This record gives sequence, structure tokens and C-alpha cells, in this order.
Amino acid sequence: MIRIYKCPSCGGVLQYRPGTDEMVCPNCKNTQAIQTVLQMNSDGKSTGLTGVESADYAGTGVENMACPACGGPLTVDEHTASTFCPYCKSPNLIGSRFSGQYRPSRVLPFQFDKKEAQNKFKTWKGTGLLTPGKFKSAATMDKVTGVYVPYWLYSYTGNVHLQGEGLNMRVTRQGDDEIIDTDHYQLERNVQSTYESVPADASEKFPDENMNVLEPFDYSKLVNFSLPYMAGFLADTYDYSAADLNEKIRSQVEREMISDAQGTITEYQAVNIANAQVNYTDQRAEYVFMPIWTLIFEYMGKKYPLYMNGESGEIDGVVPYSKLKALVIFGIAFAVFFLIAFLLGRVF
Ligand SMILES: [Zn+2]
Ligand SMILES: [Zn+2]
Repeated sequence: MIRIYKCPSCGGVLQYRPGTDEMVCPNCKNTQAIQTVLQMNSDGKSTGLTGVESADYAGTGVENMACPACGGPLTVDEHTASTFCPYCKSPNLIGSRFSGQYRPSRVLPFQFDKKEAQNKFKTWKGTGLLTPGKFKSAATMDKVTGVYVPYWLYSYTGNVHLQGEGLNMRVTRQGDDEIIDTDHYQLERNVQSTYESVPADASEKFPDENMNVLEPFDYSKLVNFSLPYMAGFLADTYDYSAADLNEKIRSQVEREMISDAQGTITEYQAVNIANAQVNYTDQRAEYVFMPIWTLIFEYMGKKYPLYMNGESGEIDGVVPYSKLKALVIFGIAFAVFFLIAFLLGRVF
């Protein structure tokens, strides 16, 4: 089922209001608590419009649907979960992409709105004197788009078993000679270890190298998932399942667990670990959505993608520099230099 939440006052379309637990109507500014919206819908006093997803949906390829608000054609691919109608701009939420295996457990809602995101991009330290003027233009800033990115949060609990030997050295003197005795001790240790909420970006579209820079997110701001948080933002289902990424994340965590366990051995001057093994007693992956503001800056025929953490405001990406601005600044510096040289020449 496709869902659109309607404003009870004016019939406009409600969107999630960042940093709150409310939806807002961009038309009349009326706000509704998400709880109220959900309650009204479950009571049958619907605040929304629903539309059918095409019956032949097989989970692959492009699918043609209709926007419940205006009836216009809505073309989505097999991953589209939250999108906008290209005609009436209403946020369309595609139910099947948030249910079953795609049902998220929690979401970290956007903490600030588009206007604030635009200001953060404009005043970002990654821009400067040589940034093309077009970057701060209304046309560029209008492209700022909020996207919920699918993530897995992995948690592991296990017993780290270490085997090896501990070495302690004793130095004694006999006349001028220094004698070093080394005591060898058999070493065996079991250490309980837990790692919680280790994030992994489950989307192919978002480059890991950028996403890693944007972390961390404040996980205390995660809330139980409900559909209204998605309204007004783009979202796709995950490309990589929890099983797809588990091995990679677990091997990273396992190295940390083993190094933590080694850190608990303090009674020897040196340690040789012959064998380290982790026996897992619990492994979990939680499906969540994280908020990212995106901006694709187009300059001289090239695209420069920028990403902003929608919770902390951290930005990653590269903005090109303007050759024209560089030339003008160099020209002015050159002129000033000659002017000073000329004036000094006249004085002395
Ligand atoms: Zn309204
Ligand atoms: Zn529409």
C-alpha cells in the first residue's frame, strides 16, 4: 500500500518535522503529533490517502504505480521506499518496502531542517575564498535533499580465549657480569567481551569512505520506527543484507576484542600469544535508518557529491575551486606588490 498523510486542516500533505515528534503541513503550518496521526489511522479516522502498489510487483526492476494524491504516474525501482511524486511533490511512502524483511527496527530522525542544512553547507570550513560563487546560489542550495540511509547495527558478545606464554626477566650481577634470567609462564585466559551498535552502511549508493567520516551518530536519539518519520525524505531499502556484511564487521570487531583481552594481561613483562579465539554467545544485527543531507554540486560539467550527518551536522566531500577567482586574487596580489615596490622606489 502507498501512503500519504494528509493535513486535517487544509488537505495539504504532512511531512515529518525534523528535531520533533511531529508532522507539519508546509501549506498551513499546522502540526500533528506522530502519535496522534498513528492513532487516528488505527481508529479508522484516517488522516491519509492510500494507493495500491502494482499487483505484479515481483521485487525486481522498475515498477509503475500511481500517486494517491494526484493520480500521476509514479515510477520506482525495486529499492525505492520513500519518494516524492514528480508532479504534485507529495511524499509517497511505499508500504511493502518497510515491512517483512524490510521492516526497520528503529530510525534516527533528522534533527534539523533543510534551511539549517543549507546554512551549514554555506558556512562549511571545506569552502573558502576560492569556492565558486555558484555554490552558495539559491539554485544549488535548493538541491539539498534529506535521505534516510539504511544501516545495520551489529552487536556481538563472546568469550575471548587466549593461550601463550608470559615472560619475566630478572637481572643479577656477578662482579662485572650482568646475568639475565628469563622465567617462562604458561598463560591461559578467558575474557568476556561485548561490542554493541557497530554501524555498517547497507546502501550501495552511499560510498563507505564518506559515510565513515560522518560517523558517529548519537544512538541515544534512535526511536522506534514508524512511517511518518520518513515523510518528506528519500529512502531506499538495503542493498546488503545483515548476512552480507556480518563477516566483514565481525572480523574488525574480533581484532578489537582480542586486543582488549590482551590488554588485561599486566603481570608479565612480555607476552607471546600462540592462539586467540572468540566463541560467540550472542550475535545480533538491527536494521535502522540514519539521516543524511546530500548535495550534488554541479560545476563545469562535473558532479561533486557532498554528505552531511543529519544528526551531528558533520560534512564530508570536496568542493572544486574557481580558476577565475584564483586568477583574480593572484592578479590583485601582483598589482599590490608592484604598487608598493613603485612607491618605495619613489621614497628611497
Ligand atoms: Zn494544512
Ligand atoms: Zn502526485
